[in-house]
Amino acid sequence: MKCSWCENTTAKESVNTVYWELPDGTKTVQIEETPCVCCSACGMTYQTEDTVKQIEDQLFLIDTKQLPKILSFEDLMKRPRLLKRNYFDFST
Ligand SMILES: [Zn+2]
Repeated sequence: MKCSWCENTTAKESVNTVYWELPDGTKTVQIEETPCVCCSACGMTYQTEDTVKQIEDQLFLIDTKQLPKILSFEDLMKRPRLLKRNYFDFST
């Protein structure tokens, strides 16, 4: 696949460990085995926009107080979502 940084086509899908700040800024979690794109041409390892959105959405919808400091991407995605507040209701 094509690298978004150097546009070299040798970039490959891989997994890596990322550190993510929670939406409320209270702590940073370590997410292991996160899907990433790894480019051997420029040395960049990065998450695609889709993966970033998946992580951000999930962190927004789960109870981050219960979140361990280190977990895998798969574990993060399996965590139950809370819908205690309707963030999308702007009528009030
Ligand atoms: Zn590259």
